[in-house]
Amino acid sequence: MNTDLETQKPRAALGLLSGGLDSILATRLLLDQGIRVECVNFHTGFCIQGHTGAMRNPEPGAKPARHDALHAAQLLGIKLHMIDIAEEYVKIVTNPKHGYGSNLNPCLDCKIFMVAKAWALKEQLGFDFIFTGEVLGQRPMSQRRDNLPHIEREAGVEGWLLRPLCALRLPPTEPEKRGWVDRQQLKGFSGRGRKDQMALAKQFGLRDYPSPAGGCCFLTDVNYSRKLQDLWHFRADRAYTIEDIVLLKAGRHLRPTPRFKVIVGRDETENNFLAGFRAGRWSMQAVELAGPLVLVEGHPDAEDLALACRLTARFGQGRHLAEVQVSIEGPGQQEMRLVTPLPAAEIPPEWYI
Ligand code: SF4
Repeated sequence: MNTDLETQKPRAALGLLSGGLDSILATRLLLDQGIRVECVNFHTGFCIQGHTGAMRNPEPGAKPARHDALHAAQLLGIKLHMIDIAEEYVKIVTNPKHGYGSNLNPCLDCKIFMVAKAWALKEQLGFDFIFTGEVLGQRPMSQRRDNLPHIEREAGVEGWLLRPLCALRLPPTEPEKRGWVDRQQLKGFSGRGRKDQMALAKQFGLRDYPSPAGGCCFLTDVNYSRKLQDLWHFRADRAYTIEDIVLLKAGRHLRPTPRFKVIVGRDETENNFLAGFRAGRWSMQAVELAGPLVLVEGHPDAEDLALACRLTARFGQGRHLAEVQVSIEGPGQQEMRLVTPLPAAEIPPEWYI
């Protein structure tokens, strides 16, 4: 059934694989029908498992971070295409035609963009159709009943996007109509619950899959979205660079004035990570006392830099001392300053971004 009669090759499907349980199950349902499957995973720059996701040391006893899509690919024994779309993705985040979800997540535009990208790859690599692990009604924006056909239409793939986990609740797709996929072996899952998926995982003997609570995208995170909004607001421009969005993922961010903000490393791993971004910025750190590396972003004047030094002292081990020596480095300059740590009472809550 799954063989091309002319070429005698098995039918082939290209799936979008996040590495979450749904995309694993969707892939497995097609593999079990004898379809040749490969998957694609897109890196948007906002992926939690991207370059900074695995930066911090795990909590004692916690598992080290892993890349879920890569892990899923080895679990399923399939080839994974990993594609960086971060630069092209800027236009999706800064100007989404369908707006944002509850934070700065442009899920509908994002889905349309990724499906269109997957389709282009399918054409290039000669697959027969594409599929996703979407479940009807599971996500408020991109998986609503009326939005599923909309995604297909806007991505230009009408009838060719199979959703194996909820196919029985949707009109048959071309791969089903042409007999390449047995509709009877697909599922009719819907809603936000996970019981059906967990039962199917058990049936497949799958145990080691990521928890849905982990999330995969910083744009759905309220704290991250606030920092991105702040960046756009104070630059008066929604454009961003990959370096901008990477720096929003690390440290504690405080904006004392519209001219500047500080990024304060929260532990040794974040200090080491931020150290890689010192070039071209002001940075400061207390001398001979444990404490954060602080980066300054924006256009600080002399008074702002003095305040940033006092904040550096405040977040370190010397916070209760009368004076702390701080090393400050900036474009072409380096000096030591003796500063009074800023008392906690003088840090208004609105400084925290
Ligand atoms: S959560 Fe993030 S990656 Fe997923 S659809 Fe929404 S914007 Fe895209």
